[in-house]
Amino acid sequence: MSRDMMPHFELYQPDTLENAIDLARRIGPGAWFLAGGNDSLDWFKDRHKRPTAVIDMTGIASLKGIRETEEGLEIGALTTLAEVESSAIVREKYSLLSTAAGRVASPQIRNAGTLGGNLCQDARCWYYRSGVDCYRAGGNTCYADTPQGQNREHCLFGAARCIAVSPSDCAPAVVALEGSIVIAAAGGERVVSAEEFFVGPSVDIRHMTILKPGEIVTAVRLPKKWAGAKFYFEKVTDRATWDFALVNVASAMHVEGGTIKDARIVCGAVECVPRRLKAVEQAVIGQPQNEDTALIAGRIAAQGATPVQYNGYKIPLMENLVRRAVRDS
Ligand SMILES: Cc1cc2nc3c(=O)[nH]c(=O)nc-3n(C[C@H](O)[C@H](O)[C@H](O)COP(=O)(O)OP(=O)(O)OC[C@H]3O[C@@H](n4cnc5c(N)ncnc54)[C@H](O)[C@@H]3O)c2cc1C
Ligand code: SF4
Repeated sequence: MSRDMMPHFELYQPDTLENAIDLARRIGPGAWFLAGGNDSLDWFKDRHKRPTAVIDMTGIASLKGIRETEEGLEIGALTTLAEVESSAIVREKYSLLSTAAGRVASPQIRNAGTLGGNLCQDARCWYYRSGVDCYRAGGNTCYADTPQGQNREHCLFGAARCIAVSPSDCAPAVVALEGSIVIAAAGGERVVSAEEFFVGPSVDIRHMTILKPGEIVTAVRLPKKWAGAKFYFEKVTDRATWDFALVNVASAMHVEGGTIKDARIVCGAVECVPRRLKAVEQAVIGQPQNEDTALIAGRIAAQGATPVQYNGYKIPLMENLVRRAVRDS
């Protein structure tokens, strides 16, 4: 089937958040919020998702920009990944996020893609993306988790019928920075921690976030607590050009006099949500930041992993990334 033309939909281009929310309320379940379109347009062109109406949010100025606040930093959801990557304040205080944003895809995608869209993007399992009727698509099987299934990109943790992973590079960084997500809807605003925002298949097999129909992410907030901490981000891909992570790691640590006082360590692409490694954090807090502590961290990083047929290589990958995060941040 030709991917040159998209099926028809109505296009709305509101210039205020209130209008976008009101449109979504009036249109109902067929409405689709559009940010940079990197994820959305693929779905539309492939005809695997067919919204009746698209609400383009790129004209809403209040959703863009990076602002210092009493509590830390607030980044509008429609701020592009390129802006996050190059922002002086993000680079100075939360370089974990600017580094992660700079490792997303290609410069063209980062110029159009937004921080909100990167966090809200859908699973990248190639079966699902090719339009099959798997569990995540509303069907009754998982094509990746079969004896013949191609599952080298899939999860080590949290499988529940679906074994897809969180594909975002920014998500583990936002969780490591103890970020929160501001969500607006017809009923008002709510703020949730980034950890609560992402959900696995045991909670909702059709969605990767807690967003309900009609809800818009308006901003990401980063607390002062982690500004200027020691950070580490590393992403391993199959190719040395744009590619999704096989595993990535994002860590934030406070180190005083060579001792780790506090730490948040998160891996992406190993579970359907960014995986916070609480056991590793507990093991390293209070310890010297050195090779011995890093070795212990690496040894326990992947405890409890349940690999499928072709993704066992992710276990040593994860162990080594976590070891380096603790040693080299
Ligand atoms: C070739 C290619 C390579 C890629 N490589 C990487 C990679 O290496 N690492 C990585 O992390 N990502 C990668 N991506 C994903 C890409 O970065 C994301 O798809 C992109 O950031 C999505 O952002 P967007 O603004 O284009 O979102 P859109 O495509 O517009 O939206 C994505 C989804 O999020 C929803 N959404 C967007 N913004 C909001 C909001 N504010 N509130 C509520 N819902 C919202 C939309 O409704 C849609 O469902 C890649 C994508 C492509 C096409
Ligand atoms: S891993 Fe999830 S998205 Fe992929 S085929 Fe299985 S159910 Fe579908």
